[in-house]
Amino acid sequence: RVLIGNKVSEGHVNFIIAYNMLTGIRVSVSRCSGIMKPLTDQDFRFTKKLAFDYHGNELTPSSQYAFKFKDYCPEVFRELRALFGLDPADYLVSLTSKYILSELNSPGKSGSFFYYSRDYKYIIKTIHRAEHIHLRKHLREYYTHVKQNPDTLLCQFYGLHRVKMPISFQNKIKHRKIYFIVMNNLFPPHLDIHRTYDLKGSTWGRRTAVDQRAMDEPGSTYRPVLKDLNWLESKERILFGPAKKKKFLEQLRKDISLLSRLNIMDYSLLVGIHDLNKSAALISDAEEEDVPEDMLEPSLHDENIIEPGEQPPMDAGNPLEQPADELVQEGVQLNNDTIEEIDPLDDAPLVATKKKHVTKGYEVNRVVSHFFKDYEGGIASSDTHDNDGRYIYYIGIIDCMTNYSIVKKLETFWRSLSHDRKVVSAIPPRDYGQRLYSFVGDSVDTKDFEPYKDDPTQKN
Ligand code: ATP
Ligand code: CA
Ligand code: CA
Repeated sequence: RVLIGNKVSEGHVNFIIAYNMLTGIRVSVSRCSGIMKPLTDQDFRFTKKLAFDYHGNELTPSSQYAFKFKDYCPEVFRELRALFGLDPADYLVSLTSKYILSELNSPGKSGSFFYYSRDYKYIIKTIHRAEHIHLRKHLREYYTHVKQNPDTLLCQFYGLHRVKMPISFQNKIKHRKIYFIVMNNLFPPHLDIHRTYDLKGSTWGRRTAVDQRAMDEPGSTYRPVLKDLNWLESKERILFGPAKKKKFLEQLRKDISLLSRLNIMDYSLLVGIHDLNKSAALISDAEEEDVPEDMLEPSLHDENIIEPGEQPPMDAGNPLEQPADELVQEGVQLNNDTIEEIDPLDDAPLVATKKKHVTKGYEVNRVVSHFFKDYEGGIASSDTHDNDGRYIYYIGIIDCMTNYSIVKKLETFWRSLSHDRKVVSAIPPRDYGQRLYSFVGDSVDTKDFEPYKDDPTQKN
């Protein structure tokens, strides 16, 4: 596997920011552990502030640095995490087991910082205030959509937070507010992604210059993020059978239509391709790689999560008390219902199961298997394409908080003076969505089955 990014450990310029983010998440998430109740309007407005300092107090444990932390709609995000099938204890362990994250070297132009959790399952992305406002404004629509679409391709948001801390800038100390989200890493920690595309459905400036020599070098870890023109030029396709194609495009259409309705644009379909033919050797390498021991041993009784002397409440809703698996067994009931069955002749078995997570009368449907994340965390190309090789696709819609603001409207105006409207990237949300949808639709290659013609009852 290819590990990307620089370790953020003590001494790194952004170490204190990262430390504060993780400390805040750890304390606020572990506090948010009472019985789950149906969400109310209040939950969509609720925020909670915590102040950290060296001494600590009855609300917050001591922290190496002084900072303020704000948690937005914690109950909503807790339920979202449950809907996305996250185990509450695992989530804490991944984000807080050690203050080491990896920082991705500025992957986008926006100036956002990206941090991977130590186990590469989660990404923390710093966002602009405008994006933060937009997400809060539409959190209910997002939540409803996720609830109604267990297989949504939209980026999975797990938490929205803010850290306020002193930062020195041009020799002056200023208190800065840093907004950030926690989301899923679309790509698996254990497999190499051979090609990655960030697709917007536009051709305007959408080409990444590739250093082919660096790429071809044996053992090379150089994996540039490719774009629409690279996709077209290399004749890349998504190889699905008719049923997977149908399901994929239907979900894509629903997800895009939500974004258009919310006036969002500039998002991308991120596609990672793992080539199973290239991977045989790499997989066994990855399996042998050492996993740091503290990643295997959840340090849930870390004194900073549950303060010494403090007894966590003993109700079943407390995720720190029991791993979620046990919760389900003790159940609160486990229900396997088949959501959908698709023509068995077509693709691999496509049966999704749902686990119901019941806590004292209130049910959260935990989607244990996600249609597009069912095979090694992704979705496999269809058997019908055997001759073309076998691939695993990791597909999701990312960067979906940009409002079609006045700035973009101006940009459209200026660009439209000199270019065809179809190729510029800032176009109104509805057109933007349609353009991306047709680009992707044209890229799914379905080989139709030869119908079985031999009928023994018919003699000619
Ligand atoms: P810009 O606005 O300039 O496009 P940005 O700072 O908003 O950039 P994103 O577009 O969100 O950044 O992401 C940049 C890159 O980071 C993506 O092209 C992708 O390679 C990687 N990335 C972003 N989100 C994820 C994710 N959830 N999983 C895996 N990789 C991701
Ligand atoms: Ca982007
Ligand atoms: Ca962006």
